[in-house]
Amino acid sequence: MTAGLAALTIGRAAYNRIAAHALKCFPEECCGVLVGTRRAGRVHVAHAVTAANVLPKRLRMRHFEIDPAVLFTLQRTLREGRHKRLRERVVGYFHSHPLGVASPSGADLAGAHEVGLVTLIAAPEQRTGRVTMRAFLRLGDGAARRFRPLRLHIEG
Ligand SMILES: [Zn+2]
Repeated sequence: MTAGLAALTIGRAAYNRIAAHALKCFPEECCGVLVGTRRAGRVHVAHAVTAANVLPKRLRMRHFEIDPAVLFTLQRTLREGRHKRLRERVVGYFHSHPLGVASPSGADLAGAHEVGLVTLIAAPEQRTGRVTMRAFLRLGDGAARRFRPLRLHIEG
């Protein structure tokens, strides 16, 4: 199913939240969780949940680790209420590349543990306030482990 996936839609508010977070955290990497739905091979990101980058300060310009407390609380929230009714769940993660471009690094591929989840990368340009975003789907295992680029559509 995931093999046929070619596009990711993201709500305008979620998109803006990621862009703002990437600029705010500059020159460090920001990170967070993408919450939404996956139906008929299409991923939709409804919410972007920002999280602290819990790595030591000296590492945060080139690496990230999502605060596990945020993930824990989020998983509990998703099991109830409106999220549950809408079948929203974690569809992927985002982080920023303040020193580079919005392409995944080797560490990003190594760290993307689950097949079928999205890795969204934001490259903020602090001087202009512009943020470039690209999204990738994790596919394959072992030697076939790879990212496939997704078309990004902003909604609303
Ligand atoms: Zn990265």
